[in-house]
Amino acid sequence: MNASTIVIVGAGQAGAIAAAELRQQKFEGRIVLVGDEPHPPYERPPLSKDVLLKPDATRCAIHPDDFYAQHAIELKLGVAADAIDANARTVTLTNGETLAYDKLLIATGARARRLPMLDALGDDVYTLRTLDDARRLLPVLQPGRRVLLVGAGVIGLELASSATDLGAHVTVIEQAPLAMMRCSPPVLNRHLCDVHRARGVVLHLDAPLERAERANGDIVLTLKNGTRIAGDAVIYGIGVEPDTALALAAGLDVNNGIVINAQCRTSNPHVYAAGDVASQWNDASGRTLRRETWENAKDQAVTAARTMLGIAPEANAVPWFWTDQCGLNVQFAGDMAAPEWIARGSLDAPPCMLFGVDHEGALVAAITVNQGRDMRSAKELIARRARLSRDVLADPQQNLRALARGA
Ligand code: FAD
Ligand code: NAP
Repeated sequence: MNASTIVIVGAGQAGAIAAAELRQQKFEGRIVLVGDEPHPPYERPPLSKDVLLKPDATRCAIHPDDFYAQHAIELKLGVAADAIDANARTVTLTNGETLAYDKLLIATGARARRLPMLDALGDDVYTLRTLDDARRLLPVLQPGRRVLLVGAGVIGLELASSATDLGAHVTVIEQAPLAMMRCSPPVLNRHLCDVHRARGVVLHLDAPLERAERANGDIVLTLKNGTRIAGDAVIYGIGVEPDTALALAAGLDVNNGIVINAQCRTSNPHVYAAGDVASQWNDASGRTLRRETWENAKDQAVTAARTMLGIAPEANAVPWFWTDQCGLNVQFAGDMAAPEWIARGSLDAPPCMLFGVDHEGALVAAITVNQGRDMRSAKELIARRARLSRDVLADPQQNLRALARGA
């Protein structure tokens, strides 16, 4: 591999980490990183948080600006990959350039799912995926503005928190009976809803949208139950769709994401995929899973880079992600569908934890609320499927680090 060319399509979290890992592992060939956004690779988690709250003090670049030149990584920004010819092993860009590759990594991420009913309103309707999207929100999230947030997933709730901090009047509309249903257990979701309500957010749950229109300069959303809500702007976060168009056209296996194995190989031996766009085989659930988290993008990028170079990747057994909202840092590890949850401390008085236990009594998940220092120990215990009594799990006096060492 050492004098060959690796092309990476998608200059986001996974693309930038993969390029760095290739150099870290002493790859000496050509690396070309192609991104359709105009900005050098940046992290998305600050977009719903500090980019809105402290725009002048927040830097979200993944690497320093001179990193790419220093590591001989050719960064092509503001240009998209248009087509992959998997037989000829070439990628054509929208500027007409054709890049030949020995190995290709597809790291095109995902796009905000569109809701035509809202898009049809034209101005004052926003989604949040990119740095430019976040900057467009700055003049919207102002004191006294009535902001309607459609979708109470992680984006909806993080935006509700930031918008409230900035003095906006926030109404959240969600079709599911609780917020953050896709990634977090009901016991926590109920609590987060209460915290937002206590900060003045109006939450409409179990409330599908029926109609969206303009009336007397307002945007008016009508719910299926007949409630009408007026606002100055709508921001919606109703999930994402993986950016699989290139892979589909190139004949790769795609099933809610580009299908990859544990080493991030696609159905083509010269093509790899990583991050939000990839749907990876998961032994535990016996199916492919697409994860949409910062850690997953980083881990799969490292795995893909190492596999390309013939280096055995390290396995990460316990998935992890976090959210910051309403002054709470909430971290999640393991299987959020665990059937039973045991509290250590009270959600009303953080720091506290929740432990998820399966039907066999094994620890399969943990959530920390303002208690991130215990997450590493919790992950170790989850990786071993530790069986600890409910009393031990619930007792704050039982040191988790000691339990992790002893279990
Ligand atoms: P992306 O970061 O989306 O990068 C893909 C890049 O490829 C994009 O720049 C895209 O424009 C580009 N691209 C697409 N098609 C082409 C093409 N044909 N040619 C060239 N370039 C192309 N996760 C957490 O764990 N914790 C958080 O707190 C958190 N907060 C988040 C907040 C927000 C607002 C958002 C949007 C996401 C957040 N996430 C969070 C999720 C996390 O950011 C994503 O999982 C991660 O960015 C995925 O990385 P990726 O490289 O797969 O995709
Ligand atoms: P999400 O977490 O998938 O949540 C979308 C929510 O919108 C779901 O609750 C969904 O309900 C609801 N919804 C769908 N259609 C709707 C409709 N027509 N009307 C009202 N509600 C509707 O997605 P997201 O919040 O948009 O986040 C997008 C991406 O950013 C994800 O990849 C996410 O992981 C990432 N992100 C992550 C973090 C983090 O990890 N901290 C923070 C921000 C963003 P149903 O389930 O019933 O469809």
